[in-house]
Amino acid sequence: MHVQALCSLQAAAAPARPCLPAPVAVLRLQHPMTRQGISPKLERGGKAGGTGLKGRKRRTSSATAAATDVLTAAPGSTKVGFLGIGIMGYAMASNLLKAGYEVTVWNRSPDKCKDLATEGAQVAASPAEVVAASDITLAMLSDPEACLAVATGPEGVAAAMAPGKGYVDVSTVDAATARQVAAAVRGAGGLYLEAPVSGSKGPAQQGQLIFLTGGDRKLYDASAPLLEVMGKASFFLGEVGAGANMKLVVNMVMGTMLASYAEGLELAKQCGLQQSDLVDVIKLGAIASPMFQLKASKGGWQPCPACCAVLLGEAPAMIEGSYPPAFPLKHQQKDLRLALALGDEVEQPLPLAAAANELYKRARAEGYSDADFSAVMAAVSTD
Ligand code: NAP
Repeated sequence: MHVQALCSLQAAAAPARPCLPAPVAVLRLQHPMTRQGISPKLERGGKAGGTGLKGRKRRTSSATAAATDVLTAAPGSTKVGFLGIGIMGYAMASNLLKAGYEVTVWNRSPDKCKDLATEGAQVAASPAEVVAASDITLAMLSDPEACLAVATGPEGVAAAMAPGKGYVDVSTVDAATARQVAAAVRGAGGLYLEAPVSGSKGPAQQGQLIFLTGGDRKLYDASAPLLEVMGKASFFLGEVGAGANMKLVVNMVMGTMLASYAEGLELAKQCGLQQSDLVDVIKLGAIASPMFQLKASKGGWQPCPACCAVLLGEAPAMIEGSYPPAFPLKHQQKDLRLALALGDEVEQPLPLAAAANELYKRARAEGYSDADFSAVMAAVSTD
C-alpha cells in the first residue's frame, strides 16, 4: 500500500478524503518549527490489494497547467533524472527503470552507474546534464556538503534548472541545507521538494520506503507516481525543512535505540548470559522491534516481505560481529550530529542522543565509518 498523508495547517481544516479500505488513524503531529498542532489527513491508498498506481497511466498534461508547473509523472512521457548512485540511489533508480521510466543518472564516481546503464539508464557527465535531460530530477546524496555541492556547484543542478522542471532531494540533510538548495532551485525557476526517506537498503530495493516531504506542493503531486514506485507511503509535511526535521527526529530515535540494544547485548554477554537468549526475550515482549531482529544475528532471521538484506545473504549480525553496510554508520552519526544541532536550535535537551552520538563517533574512530551502523556494537564492546 502506498499511503499519502497531507500534513499542513490548511489540511487541518479540510475534510479527509475517504479513500483507504482499513480504519485509518488521523495522525496528530507537533510541528517542530512552529510548535502548532497539525493534523495530517491520509489522502488515498496506493499499492495494496492491486490498487497501486504502478504502471497505470496518469494525467500527463492539463489545459490549465501553468507553464512553470511540472507535469504529473508517467512512464513513457516523463524523463527522470537521478543523482547519487550509492546504496540507496542505485536501488531507487533501478525501480524507476523497472517501472518503465526513462532515467538519466549521474554519480561522482562514474563506475557506480555501470549496472544501471546495463538496466537501461542513460549516463550523464554532470548534474547539470541530468537536469537538462529530465523533467524531474531526484538526488540521493550523502550529506549537506554533497547536496550543496551538487545543487549549487559548477555544472550543478541550478545551472540547468528551468521553469517546468522539478528537483526532489531525497537525501538526509538538515533544514537549513534544504532551504539553501530550495532557494537555488527556485531561483532558477524550478520547483523544489525535500523528500528524505525512512527505510534502508531492503525497503529501497523492494519499493517500500516512506517519504517525508516538504516544499512545493505542486511538485509533490507531480512526483507522486515516482514516490509510489519507490515507496509505500509519503507524507507532505508543509514548508521546506519540515521533512528534514522529521527525518532527523526519526533517525535520532533509531540511532539511540540501536546503541542501547548494543549495550544490552554486551552487558548480557559480560554477565554470562547468552546474547541469543536476550534477542529472543526482547523479540517476544513490548520492546520488540523489527530493527533489532534485522540487526541481531544471521541465525535469528525470519525472512519477511519487508525485510531485505537477509534475503540477499548480507544481513548485519551484531552477535557475530558482522556488519555489511545497509545504512553506513557514518550516515547514522551524521544524522545524530544534525539532530543534536536541531535540539540546540530549539533548546530541546537531548542527553540520550548526545550519549549515543559519542558511541557512533567512537565507532567511526575505530574504523567502522563505512560498516553498517549496527557496528556501534564495536564501540560498546569491552573485549
Ligand atoms: P552511500 O552509499 O554512501 O552513497 C552516498 C552517495 O553520495 C554516493 O553516490 C556518493 O558518490 C555521493 N556523494 C558523496 N559526497 C559527494 C560529493 N561531495 N559530491 C557528489 N556526490 C557525493 O549512502 P546511502 O546509504 O545511499 O545514503 C545516501 C543518503 O540517504 C544519506 O543522506 C543517508 O543518510 C540517507 N539514507 C540512507 C539510508 C540507508 O539505509 N542506507 C536510509 C535512509 C536514508 P560516490 O559514489 O562518488 O562516493
